Amino acid sequence: MIFYKQKITILILDALLVAIGLAGYYHIYHKATLPFVIMQQEDSLIITDAPNTVEFNGAVITRMNGLGFGSMEQLEFLCDGLSIGDQAVIEIQQYGRIRAETVTLVPFYSPGYLVVAAIASLSFLILGVLVFVRRSVHDTAAMVFHNAMVLTFLIMTTTWGKLQLEADGMGILLRIVFSAAYVLAGTTFVHFTFVFPRVKWGKYHTVLYPLYTFSLLLSGAMGYAVTLAVTEYSVTWYRIYLILFDVCRVQFALSGIFAILNFIHSYKFSIEEIERRKLRWILLGTFIGPLSFIMLWIVPNTMGAQGLVREEIILLILIIVPVTYSISILKYQLMNIDAIFNRGTVYGLVLFLVLALYMVITGGVATMVGTATAMSSSIASGFAIVIIVLVFDPVRRSIQKMVDRKFFRIQYDYRITQREIIELINETRGMEELTDVLFEKIESNISVERIAFIRYNSNQRTFQILRQSGFPALQSDDLEQYRSELMNDAGIPILDQVVVEAGAKFEPAAQQPFKSLGISASFSLISQDLRPFGLLLLGPKKSQLRYSLEDIDLLNVTLRHVALSMEKIALQHKLIQEEAETLKHKELSELKSLFVSSVSHEFKTPLTSIRMFAELLHSPYQIQDEKRSEYLAIIEGEAERLSRMINSVLDYSKIEKGIKEYSFEILDLNSIVRQVIKLMEYQLKLNKFTFQVSLHEKELLLHADKDAIEEVLINLITNAMKYSKEIREISVITSSDKGDALVTVSDKGIGIPQTELPRIFDPYYRCQDTTSGRISGTGLGLAIVRHVMDAHDASVEVTSIVGEGSAFVLRFKQANENNADFPHGNGGTGS
Ligand code: ADP
Repeated sequence: MIFYKQKITILILDALLVAIGLAGYYHIYHKATLPFVIMQQEDSLIITDAPNTVEFNGAVITRMNGLGFGSMEQLEFLCDGLSIGDQAVIEIQQYGRIRAETVTLVPFYSPGYLVVAAIASLSFLILGVLVFVRRSVHDTAAMVFHNAMVLTFLIMTTTWGKLQLEADGMGILLRIVFSAAYVLAGTTFVHFTFVFPRVKWGKYHTVLYPLYTFSLLLSGAMGYAVTLAVTEYSVTWYRIYLILFDVCRVQFALSGIFAILNFIHSYKFSIEEIERRKLRWILLGTFIGPLSFIMLWIVPNTMGAQGLVREEIILLILIIVPVTYSISILKYQLMNIDAIFNRGTVYGLVLFLVLALYMVITGGVATMVGTATAMSSSIASGFAIVIIVLVFDPVRRSIQKMVDRKFFRIQYDYRITQREIIELINETRGMEELTDVLFEKIESNISVERIAFIRYNSNQRTFQILRQSGFPALQSDDLEQYRSELMNDAGIPILDQVVVEAGAKFEPAAQQPFKSLGISASFSLISQDLRPFGLLLLGPKKSQLRYSLEDIDLLNVTLRHVALSMEKIALQHKLIQEEAETLKHKELSELKSLFVSSVSHEFKTPLTSIRMFAELLHSPYQIQDEKRSEYLAIIEGEAERLSRMINSVLDYSKIEKGIKEYSFEILDLNSIVRQVIKLMEYQLKLNKFTFQVSLHEKELLLHADKDAIEEVLINLITNAMKYSKEIREISVITSSDKGDALVTVSDKGIGIPQTELPRIFDPYYRCQDTTSGRISGTGLGLAIVRHVMDAHDASVEVTSIVGEGSAFVLRFKQANENNADFPHGNGGTGS
């Protein structure tokens, strides 16, 4: 209730001041002046332009209605005592003669100015009152802002208007109010910079009390001087008033400059993003508003020149101040201030300031030197050029650098960045790529000292560090131990309180393990069915600044999308795997059934001939000895073929089950080859093969399993025989190459099509042509070869041309006898 009363009281006071303002506006409206454009040159006022007539041009006005004056302002004061349409007698000096003229006074302000002044002053008033009404009376900042705005309203409306000297006239009151408002506005503005966005210095009163005291004294003195000037119609007192008013202007300008510096200081030392946002609004208004007023109007005026633009424009520009300030106090999140307050704008402002400064300085130099000889003016402009080159460009550049550092070091355009990151994340196809994007984007926007991306398996409760940088001792064991401290199942980030701005939504971190592992922030990845399945751990920011609300927001949003992307990637993987598996299963079962039918057929062929020749031998007929041994040889040969086929099936089933074992010893490749040729010689001759064996002159020692290598060679030579047609030539060559021992088995047979080459080592695989060509086989020979070679840490390569022949090269690492490093062949699936 009490506060309510306080508010009402202040509003009533406001209403009173508004009434005074309106009276002031009435006086401005009626302010009169001489119907000439007048310029001041030293102590005399010269008429430069007179509407409708040229007869006054160049004349000097010396007195008006019998009173003398020395400046424009004193003449203005004299006119202020009269009304528009009044007749005034002026004394003018022209062509060496003095004469008196009667002229009619005209309005001082143009209609355009009057409209703009009304709009501007009302804007200040309304926004000031609005902020005050919306805020509690305890909000010092709102209160001080309100005061500053009402004072500015008064400055605008009570600015020198017509003085009414009649008893009921308010002229004196208005002048007193105007002076007081002018002095106090600057001080109130300074006051505001100490209490917004928060009280920045406990002892700010020690500065403000003297300032307010000085301002009150100054306005008291001005009030006294102007009262005497008006009541006694005294130009002397008016002159004193004018001197005091100049002091007041200086005070106003200094207040403005100080306020800006103080805001910049607040910005630099602000710890929260909210504060910085509010201050960015303030700085925007301040740079554009008061600074343009100071630079374009006050500075040139104090230097005795005209303002650089029309007063109306400055008034309009000034409206930006209450607007941005009100936004800052009431609704700083209204618009994206960063979009307005971007580098371009700041650079522009800086450039504008430097330019204005330049104009002031060169103007000053010109006035100093300017009792213008041609010589001195060229010196002046030369001097100006030197100043520009030496001072302004470096100044501009270092200011821009400073702007970059102070304002934009930690800045990123939140919305654009967020959209960009989400798009990139959604486009990723694999975990590698996703991690790349995540790391890169965090580095470029937030820039942290340490970062780790971790996958969590909620079934096994295990962590897997996918990638990390900067954490000196991050172990998945630690993560498992501190799971509950690091992970939040609701997806709320856990942050060390010290590194985060107030106002963010987070869970405060436990001392352990955050301190010991150097973690500042932990963000959990939550799946769509609300299971935690990952972590992003971050160290402190490189800038040593706190995590802002934007940072946390950005990380939250990013991780939500990372989580979605990870789930999508996992699902795709599973699908691809399943598909590949079913395809493999299908192919394998097809091959196996083909194998069963072809193998049983293969087994039948030798069996049939064995039975047939055995029966022949049993027959009651006499058989020649020659024939008998031929039949026996056939039976033997077929039995061997059968047993080899059975062996390879059995062998391969061992390989498939992973129970095939090898026993390694040191062997000479040449002697294995000799052995195998001996075994195969009979068969080769029987089938009319010419064969060439060429052995390396030196021993080729290998760590190998003798039986297995023999089997490999037998398989290769058997294939060479099986897949040869007209030209029956086989060669077996051993050699040494780059320290490896090689054995090459080549034939001039049917060859293997290029497209089949990658598959011939697959189990059960047989080339199309061979099967249709009805050459017997199981499709297991080369699968066994490959498996044996893998177990020996050796390789097999094949080159082949269809119709010309094939060559299989086995390549082993050579062993020296001291080297006991045997390969560990223990079977395996050999695929
Ligand atoms: P198979 O029992 O059918 O001979 P392998 O695994 O030994 O099974 O060989 C697989 C396939 O590779 C054969 O079906 C055949 O088409 C092809 N092949 C193997 N060696 C040769 C060769 N020396 N010349 C032509 N084709 C060959």
